[in-house]
Amino acid sequence: MAVVTPPAIVILGPGALATARRVQARYAGAQIHALQGRVAGDIAFGELGAHLRECYTRGMPIVALCAAGIVIRCLAPLLANKGAEPPVLALAEDGSAVVPLLGGLTGVNVMAREIGAALTVAPAITTSGELRFGTCLLNPPAGYALASLAQGKRFVSDLLAGATTRVDGQAPWLENVDLPLDASARHAIRVSAQAWNGSPDDLVIHPRSIVAAVGAPQEALAESVRHALDARGLAPLALAALVAPTAYTCDASLAQAATALGVPLRFVDSGENTAQATLAALDLAANVERYAPNENGVALACAATPLDPLALGRARGKLTVLGLGPGRADLLAPAARAALDSATDIVGYATYVEMAGPFRADQQRHATDNREELQRARHAFELASEGRRVAVVSSGDPGVFAMAAAVLEALEGSDDARWHAVELAIVPGVSAALATAAQVGAPLGHDFCMLSLSDNLKPWAVIEKRLLHAAQADLVMAFYNPISRARPWQLARALDIVRSVRAPHTRVVLGRDVGRPGETLRATTLGELRTADVDMRTMVIVGSSATRGFARADGSEWIYTPRWYREDA
Ligand code: SAH
Repeated sequence: MAVVTPPAIVILGPGALATARRVQARYAGAQIHALQGRVAGDIAFGELGAHLRECYTRGMPIVALCAAGIVIRCLAPLLANKGAEPPVLALAEDGSAVVPLLGGLTGVNVMAREIGAALTVAPAITTSGELRFGTCLLNPPAGYALASLAQGKRFVSDLLAGATTRVDGQAPWLENVDLPLDASARHAIRVSAQAWNGSPDDLVIHPRSIVAAVGAPQEALAESVRHALDARGLAPLALAALVAPTAYTCDASLAQAATALGVPLRFVDSGENTAQATLAALDLAANVERYAPNENGVALACAATPLDPLALGRARGKLTVLGLGPGRADLLAPAARAALDSATDIVGYATYVEMAGPFRADQQRHATDNREELQRARHAFELASEGRRVAVVSSGDPGVFAMAAAVLEALEGSDDARWHAVELAIVPGVSAALATAAQVGAPLGHDFCMLSLSDNLKPWAVIEKRLLHAAQADLVMAFYNPISRARPWQLARALDIVRSVRAPHTRVVLGRDVGRPGETLRATTLGELRTADVDMRTMVIVGSSATRGFARADGSEWIYTPRWYREDA
């Protein structure tokens, strides 16, 4: 079933810690997010508003131990965009009041009751249906879908106005609920895969209990599945998964059909590649009703209770290699953020995995200090070929001296068909040279090159040759990996080569920890640059003969390389 994300418990000072710990004890995997410099928790954040908004947009439930008004003000800018809304609660520091604020349809009142019970206070529930019946009828548990929210609201109003109801079908979550039950009532809560017949007196809830199986990709598949369901009076919302033979794992039209139907796409080894064989290959219980393929080759199976899609064959694995940018959250591409949020597994060098967090308890981290990139890439493919969604993280851009090339090299070198069937995507990031350049102006405004000064993976002689040619070509140069403890002398040698061609007044920019806490930027010249000014967290940009600078209002300098170029400039 769907994994319930543990909440982010957000605190602003030591006075909230004891209460926060009690809430944490209630939710496995929950972490305490604490304001940096004020109190220590599991995760530190710098600014409350930005942090709450980040958790919210990631769909994390939030329990904020501060005034309700503060939480409302922080999240207000996000509320206009109707999207999935995680539960958000305000909790008094001393645990004396718990106020559900947002997420009525995602279980905020359930959480308010749970926290209220843990702290022995009455939750401040204001939803009338909830108050009367002790549950939100419009928020069925995972594995069930409400047929119509509008109809549901009308049904709840009727009950609040005094109507009684029956329960038709299996609704285990309603067993201990205080409903006005009456076996002969006109109103009914109907739990069924059958489509709602339009009766205004029914609250229809569909168990996601149907599998649609095909033998091969086909045109307009989503339409055909809807048609097959319709022909049997079944509701599309009762669909749990679309299943196809493993042979078609990479077929784009199958993926589109599943997206259109709003269900996961799963694969099984189906010997004959027919709908019937696909269905038969699933390990369904004997009492699941099976319907033979219709004229469009769609076979259906319908269970009485929800089916767990994760137990039906396996998913097509996904591997996304993404760049975190220099480190600041707002310089991370939304596509990279989305890949991190949807990942089941995060693979990378420990520092970067930490930088990419916080992660939910259901997300597995594979952080290593291992510098062996190919080995890490192979591990990522192994995970992805089991059907997992893997994010491989690099700093900056993944294609610039980072994991993307290693991932492709691992794939090219493999003849494992499962690896080649993985859905592979590379999401760019803001590389250190670009982040550094933007801080000081536009030193990369004309032709430039990026060079790694590390001779770990290439001979030093090649580096010397490239440096000389780049210097002679009057390219601006961005040096990655300029120096390290294991490579102490190389930078001085590199600078000697550049100095043999370029003038001492050539502009040089040093950016250290750009976009991270403790960022420093320095403008100097080739003549003045000392290797002691540089470490492995530094980006060195050496200007061309045209790179220039002028004073900024704040006393520092803008540095740029003009768009034009003249040989005699
Ligand atoms: N893929 C990364 C580069 C990895 S190589 C990118 O595109 O940025 C590592 C080198 O990048 C470091 O030695 C340093 O020279 C540079 N670097 C990475 N992050 C940096 C940062 N935040 N500030 C300055 N330099 C950085």
